[in-house]
Amino acid sequence: MGTKFLTGILLALSITGVHATPIGIERAPVPIEPGVSLQLARQRAQILRNIRYRIHFQVPSSVTTSLKAEETIYFDCLDNSLPLQIDFKAAPGQISEVRVNGQQIDCQLAKEHLVIPSRYLHKGHDSVQIRFTPGDRPLNRNPDYLYTLLVPDKARSLFPCFDQPDLKAIFVLTLTLPQDWKAVANGPLKDSAGARAGGERSAQRGGGEKSGDAEGGGAEGASGMKTYRFQPSNKISTYLFAFAAGKFTTASKNMNGRLMHGYYRETDSNKIRVSLDSLFRIQKQAIDFLQTYTAIPYPFLKFDFVAIPDFQFGGMEHPGAIQYQSSSLFLDESATAEQLNGRSNLLSHETAHMWFGDLVTMRWFNDVWMKEVFANFMADKIGNITRPGGDFELKFLTAHFPAAYSTDRTAGANPIRQTLDNLQDAGSLYGNIIYNKAPIVMQQLELLMGPIPFRNGLREYLKTYAYQNASWPDLIHILGKYTSVDLEAWNKVWVGETGRPQIVCQWQTNGNTVSRLVLTQKGEDGSDRIWPQAIGLSFVYADHMDQYMINLNARSVTVPAVSGKPKPLYVLFNSTGKGYGLFPIDTIGISRVSDLPDPVMRASAYINQYENMLDGLTLTPHELLQLDQQYLASESKELNMGILLSQISSVFWHFIPAASRIAFAPDLEQTLWTTMLKTAQPNEKKLLFLAYAGIALSRNAQDTVYKIWSKKQPPEGVRLSEEDYTSLAAGLALRVYPGYEQVLTEQGKRIQNPDRRLRFQYLQPALSADPAVRDSLFFTFKDKKNREKEAWVLSALGYLHHPLRTEGSEKYLAPSLDWLEDIQRTGDVFFPERWLQVSFGNYQSPVVADMVRRFLKDRPAYNPKLREKILQASDNLMRAGKLLGR
Ligand SMILES: [Zn+2]
Repeated sequence: MGTKFLTGILLALSITGVHATPIGIERAPVPIEPGVSLQLARQRAQILRNIRYRIHFQVPSSVTTSLKAEETIYFDCLDNSLPLQIDFKAAPGQISEVRVNGQQIDCQLAKEHLVIPSRYLHKGHDSVQIRFTPGDRPLNRNPDYLYTLLVPDKARSLFPCFDQPDLKAIFVLTLTLPQDWKAVANGPLKDSAGARAGGERSAQRGGGEKSGDAEGGGAEGASGMKTYRFQPSNKISTYLFAFAAGKFTTASKNMNGRLMHGYYRETDSNKIRVSLDSLFRIQKQAIDFLQTYTAIPYPFLKFDFVAIPDFQFGGMEHPGAIQYQSSSLFLDESATAEQLNGRSNLLSHETAHMWFGDLVTMRWFNDVWMKEVFANFMADKIGNITRPGGDFELKFLTAHFPAAYSTDRTAGANPIRQTLDNLQDAGSLYGNIIYNKAPIVMQQLELLMGPIPFRNGLREYLKTYAYQNASWPDLIHILGKYTSVDLEAWNKVWVGETGRPQIVCQWQTNGNTVSRLVLTQKGEDGSDRIWPQAIGLSFVYADHMDQYMINLNARSVTVPAVSGKPKPLYVLFNSTGKGYGLFPIDTIGISRVSDLPDPVMRASAYINQYENMLDGLTLTPHELLQLDQQYLASESKELNMGILLSQISSVFWHFIPAASRIAFAPDLEQTLWTTMLKTAQPNEKKLLFLAYAGIALSRNAQDTVYKIWSKKQPPEGVRLSEEDYTSLAAGLALRVYPGYEQVLTEQGKRIQNPDRRLRFQYLQPALSADPAVRDSLFFTFKDKKNREKEAWVLSALGYLHHPLRTEGSEKYLAPSLDWLEDIQRTGDVFFPERWLQVSFGNYQSPVVADMVRRFLKDRPAYNPKLREKILQASDNLMRAGKLLGR
């Protein structure tokens, strides 16, 4: 994801990463502090070269017994006058021995570091040998399998290392495992040896080194165990080091001379039969596309993937051992278009990372957005090959714009490119701006440069920094050579700053002719910034439409092309859906949106109307609720229906006063039900039915939902899964429907899958009508041990803070903020943000708004990233205050 620039200015602009070239080594020892400070990372990047980790993990057969491990870190040290900090986030007892260049030393952990005194270090080659107990958390241990997931900074919780992306290293891995386990890692398997006679031997495959790096597997021969030795990996960052081991089934396919292996635990033979070939095919198509696009052959030793149950993300791009969420890969014949698109996208996204992120890696995690935006950007292009004819523009618009706005319109918005002082805070960089605003910005950059110059710039960037690291300014510098456009201002406002423009239109007519049309922009925050971009504007007439593309590159732009044109019925702003900001609404057109033939135009209009409502412009919440119901009745695209239903739900629960909802409900329920009946598509019918059940405030609607649940008889043409019935049962409980306790008991019995049944049992107290029972669950979350199953905790919070329960749950909000720093320290990447969103998203009370304001005011020195997340999550709350006149 890059942008171009005229060099000097750009470089001065915003380099928060580590400098590429040593300008003289910082001579002072860096203070020891938890995490990996930017200062430490910079110094180590200057003095360390040629890093190689040889690591041996011994995995016991019992999941409750700790692993044992031994490693040797080899490196060249350019300056041995400074103490050397090795990162290891562990308890002191986890280190049993440290040897530096063969000499045993007394070395204690200090603030998550092993500090090697300079007197033991050589200038030139050094080695540090460590025996230790690895941390369990990054290993995701299960009785039958485990897998590492180290992004962004968990490598240092697993083993002692230099945990920063620009100290790439070669990993030589050995694993001793229970006899019947398999293993996959970054490097190809070299050989394996087991204790049992006739045990699997020499599963060698792939090319590569034969000599050197022979590791004496310490546990080789232990009873019931087997040792796998892997060939040296390519040079990769620590966060990409990975292995998975356990009872997996494997499948292999020769794809144009490349042997690819897939590892999985799925047991549904139908899903396997329907899915497996597609998994290989799509990744192969993605590789082919990327090789052509980048002009660089697949850059790693091998291509294998692992499908993991309950994986934390959709996927993770470890070279040679990509991990995926199993349920996203293995689908059956009833898979919806959305699921198939999602799978294709996921496989393409992770494959694209092999070039964007793995081959060329950000220098520091502040530029993590670069790898994410290019993976998404390439996945969108690859989607045209793997899922042709798939509404590309509509998917892009509906997937990215509402999500980007939901963060960028808030007082807590962050720029795409952020600062990061310590790697331990890297988790807080992720969010809607990286995943949704950045692709929008990148699409514009390609439009601005033209697709071929843009591609050529990316090729040079990848070639220049292959197996190394680069920052955003490095990429901009290269792209600048391929365009005459000066993008400095463009980059400053789009990548370096937050927020969006508000566009205002003035036009004059002369009789039935347009004489002049002027578009003016300013920041939504009142600033006088300019966001250069191209937007579409359409004149809509009774029988046709004229579209104009306008380059909004100044505060005010006159559109000469429209002068002299007949006066239209109305003007539709942002009619191509590619413009980013708050656009005006020509009120004449509001009632005619449904007549627009292009679904992208309708989607753009829906989204803009919602944004205007939130800013208190043109439409009130009540008016929008009525309008969206009208639009819904005639909308024919599933994706657009999804937008309307999500707006309806949001307006109804967040921006209609709680006391008035009951009066609006019957009419809304009726619209949803009758629209469902006349819709033909099963997917759309299901969306509408679930929206109906999600409102269900009238007794009549609740009776209908109850009947459907109890007889397991959905409306004709609607297919409901076990999970859908579970959510209907939960909905009845939240509404304290008569006999809801029996509904929950019965639903518990209906669930066959043991994992899902456990989860449902866990959630029972959150659904209780007794506040004391709910309290008892909520206050357990104070202890990090009770937050480890993050997905379960979030579901429970969703019930506790349901709009129908907010009154009794306000008391949870202050503790939720008090625990936030601890939650960030102990939780996974996305958890703090989701914790806040699900806790604060449904409130409208001024008392709660005051509490949040006070919390922030009383803590001027509070962690700024968490402050942003709080402001993002409380945006609806603050707007409700204004919109409801409180
Ligand atoms: Zn990614």
